[in-house]
Parts: sequence; C-alpha cells; structure tokens
Amino acid sequence: MAVTPQSLPITVASARSFVDSIDPATNQVVARYQAAAPDDVPQAIERARRVQKEWAAHSLAYRCAALLRLRDAIYSRREDIATIVSRETGKPRVEAIFAEVMLALDTTDFLARQAPTWLRPERVPHHNLALRAKSGWTEFHPHGVVAIISPWNYPFSIPIAQIVPALVTGNAILLKPSELTPGTGALIAELIEQVKFPSGLVQVLQGAGDLGAAIIDAGPDKVFFTGSVATGRRIAEACGRMLIPSVLELGGKDAMIVLADVNLETASSAAVWGGFTNCGQACLSVERIYVEQSIAERFIHLCVEKTRQLRVGSPSDPDVEIGPMIRLRQLETVEQQLHDAVERGAEILTGGNRRPDLGPNFLEPTVITRVNHSMQLMREETFGPVIAIQTVADAADAAEAIALANDSPFGLSASVWTGDSRRGAEIATRLRAGSIMVNDVASYYGICEAPHGGSGASGWGRAHSRLGLLEMVQVKYIDVDRLPRIAKSWWFGYTAELAAAAGSFVETIFAPSWKKRFAALTKKHGARGVIFRRNASEQFKV
Ligand code: NAD
Repeated sequence: MAVTPQSLPITVASARSFVDSIDPATNQVVARYQAAAPDDVPQAIERARRVQKEWAAHSLAYRCAALLRLRDAIYSRREDIATIVSRETGKPRVEAIFAEVMLALDTTDFLARQAPTWLRPERVPHHNLALRAKSGWTEFHPHGVVAIISPWNYPFSIPIAQIVPALVTGNAILLKPSELTPGTGALIAELIEQVKFPSGLVQVLQGAGDLGAAIIDAGPDKVFFTGSVATGRRIAEACGRMLIPSVLELGGKDAMIVLADVNLETASSAAVWGGFTNCGQACLSVERIYVEQSIAERFIHLCVEKTRQLRVGSPSDPDVEIGPMIRLRQLETVEQQLHDAVERGAEILTGGNRRPDLGPNFLEPTVITRVNHSMQLMREETFGPVIAIQTVADAADAAEAIALANDSPFGLSASVWTGDSRRGAEIATRLRAGSIMVNDVASYYGICEAPHGGSGASGWGRAHSRLGLLEMVQVKYIDVDRLPRIAKSWWFGYTAELAAAAGSFVETIFAPSWKKRFAALTKKHGARGVIFRRNASEQFKV
C-alpha cells in the first residue's frame, strides 16, 4: 500500500500528547501521532519484562525465523518506508532506498542467518597449568529490556539495525524514535504488529527528550543511544548514576585525506557525495578534507564544479540530489560556523546561501577553503552541506595530513585516497577513528560484518557486526571441574610446607631457564611433592 501524506494517520489529541511529522521542505505538518507520557514508561517496562522471559525461552531458531518474517514485512512495505522517510527527513528517495530500506533488509536477513554461528557457546581453553583440570565455555544471554533511543537522520535503518540484534539475542525493546520523525516510528510499530511479535516485545514510545529521560529513569537493562554529543553526555550521566550499561553512537567530524597520487575525478566525486549525502546530515559525512599541495588546485576546482551541478530542491522531485535541512535552527548553526570561518580568513568558493525560493530550510551545498583548526567549522560537528578543504604539504609519510586528521575530539570514521592501496592501509592504521576506508567513504556502514562506532566525543561501544550483536548480550562463563573429588591445593590448610611448594610451583612454570624449572620440580617440598597430593581430608580434621 503506497502511503501519501494525505493518507497518513492523523490522531486528534491535545497539544501535549502528540508529536508532529513535519515536511522539512515546506515546514507543513503532514501528520500527527499520539505521544506516550513519561508516566506511561514504568508500565511499559513492566510489560516488556514479562514478555521478554517468554521470548528468551524460545529457541534461537524460532527467533531467527521471526526475523525472516520481519525482513519480509519490511520488503512488503518498502515503498511506504521510502516515501515516509524521504518526506519526513528531506532526503532524496534514492538515498531512502539505499541507506534505509536496503540496509534494514540486509541487516535483518544477515543476522537471521548469522546469529546461530555468532551466538554458539564458545569453549575457553585454560592457559594456567594449575587450572587445566577444568573445562570452561562462554554462553550469551540477553540483558532483558534494551532501550533504543534514536536520531532523526536515518530514522528507519538505525533503529532496525539495533532492534534486530536485540531481538535475536532474546531481549525485549523499548524504542523511542526521534520526535522529528514520528511517522517512521509509527511505521516501525506497524511492521512489528504485522509480524505478530508477542505483544509488548517491541514497544514504540513516541515523544521528545523528556520521554527518553523517563525511559532511562525506569531502569532498562541496557541503553543503546544514537544522537548528539550533548544528549549522549546527559544519557551517560543518567546511565552512570544507575549503573546501566550503554552504547553511545554520537557525532563525527570525519576527515578525508587526499594524496597526490590519487585519481582526482573519483576522489572529488567521493568528496562531494560524502559531504552532501543526506544534505550533509550524517554522522559519517566527509567534513574535513586534507589535500596535498601539488594537486590541491585541481582537486578543489573539480569539487567546486561538481557541487555547482547538484540539483537542490524538494525530495518529492525524484531528480533532486540535495534536499532541505531538517529544521531552521540546524541551518542557523551551520551558517554560524561558516560565518566564524569567514571572519577568520576562510573563503567560500561556492554555496553558503539560503534558498528561500525553494523553501524555508534550504542551504546551498558549500565548498569552503583556507580553513584551519582555530575555526569552529574544523572543530565542531557540522551537520549540514559543507565541505571544508585544507591544503597540506606533500609527504611520503603524509605526516601533516595525519596529524591534522587526528587533531579532533571526535573519532568516528575517516578515509584515505591514494593510488597505492598499501600505502593507504598503512596510513589508515595511524588514524584515530573507529573505521577508516581507503578509496571510499562511509559505505562500510552498509557492510553487516563491519563494526561501526567511535572513540572520544564520538562515543563508545559498537553497532553492526559481531561486536554489535555482543553488545546485546551478557556474557556468561561456565566452568566445570573434571576432578570433583579432589580438593584444590590453594584452599585452606596453609602451612610452611604448602607455601614452599607453591613457590616451587611458580618457579617450575615461570623460571627463565629449563634448568631452574627442572630443579624446582624435583627439590624437596617441590610442586610435585605437595601440590598434587593434597586432598580434602588433609586440609580439615573433622
Ligand atoms: P539528539 O541528541 O538531539 O536526539 C537523539 C535522540 O535522543 C532523540 O530521540 C531525542 O528525543 C532523544 N533525547 C533528547 N534528550 C534526551 C534525554 N535527556 N534523555 C534521553 N533521550 C533524549 O540527536 P539528533 O539531532 O536526533 O541526531 C543527530 C546527531 O546524531 C548528530 O550528532 C549525529 O552525528 C548523531 N548520529 C550519530 C550516529 C552514529 O552512528 N554515530 C548515527 C546517526 C546520527
């Protein structure tokens, strides 16, 4: 069923109890959704706790089969998803299909197939000689109730890629979508309904930040947050107070290093796409470009020419490549960063102006040069259509480019562009970022096996990949002693003789030469003499 704005559900409710879906191309309210009150949260979490136990008791195969049903439901609603996401975020339909629909389908399909391998109990070999008579393994158990708090910029694929691993590992979920994209949140709720998951297993609670705070106050067993640094800090504090483990997927200030041996046509196209996809409102946007001096002029020229050709407008036009920004206040923040940069000597080569003729939230894609790290533009996240290009000295070791790329509080992702992929990989190991691509930008995010996450101001923990799946479980270690009738040498019944034997045992294993080890093994009160001969009756006389 195709969904047009007119056919979207409109719930009549009081001003305090709904969230509006606004088209950022026009600022028109196109739908209204019932919001949850913070007071509703304790009841929601109780429901989730009850149903989670049943869900976790099902076999992994049962849960994987449910994921495949979810995949099929997403597929059946793919047109609606693209329509609603595009209308609510302003992103072009092509981007809604690739980065939202396809990513969600691929993650769901992949984990339904891969989870049984990744969640299999793992045998743990024992290195310590004194503990070899044991057999141990790890098992993976659900946390219980996972709270997922999502941003607006990828409002479908981000929560789906977190709901799916949480579900397959046996958790229940409280999802709070962004208040800027409630239509997408409602669509996720419909899909959950369509798949007939047990009632209360995945609850979508619509509302703003106060609702998110109430969800954390209600004490979920894990919080998976994706959003801004400022909110991430508040969430980390709340989780810290309550000792709730968290994953924080926060902002980025991604660097692109362009070396002199690069294919300039490809690198400039990558810079323009990487900087302007989703109107530059992506955590993985290319924001800072460090280009080597000898090719800088030609590279900048190509970036400017390609930027000028981009088609800006409402995403309701399928040919449009750059849509509106999400809200005017976001546009004003970016304008302020540009203003600060120009005041400090930067030069805007193209763009930088609003487009009121197109709508209230349009900013031209902007290429700016002569930037440096004293400018806000090079230090703060720029959540808008801006690429800032700084020229660096040519160098075999790319020293200046690497130093500048690493000079940031963020550490999410980066890219290196070179004709020599070995050199690119070597430079990548020296960059401080969670993911680095050589000769591509951002597309690792679509690789289910690739971990995503950062360090510093970009947060902690990982999404996607096996590491992301393991964020959704508690690791349980189980150990079985294979000699259950033998008391352990390190238990009570301490004597001078045992201390001497213990010392000999340490020497037998760790002495730096074989000669010394052998001497320790065979001496009086040696390890052989006491350690292995003790039993329970020698320890306690009862
Ligand atoms: P935001 O921080 O404003 O909001 C994110 C979510 O947090 C929303 O659902 C919001 O309602 C909720 N929230 C706000 N205050 C809260 C509180 N006190 N307690 C609990 N929840 C609260 O972020 P945004 O504007 O929606 O998203 C843009 C930001 O997200 C950018 O910084 C971007 O880089 C980042 N982001 C990061 C990733 C990543 O994977 N690292 C992905 C997408 C977006």
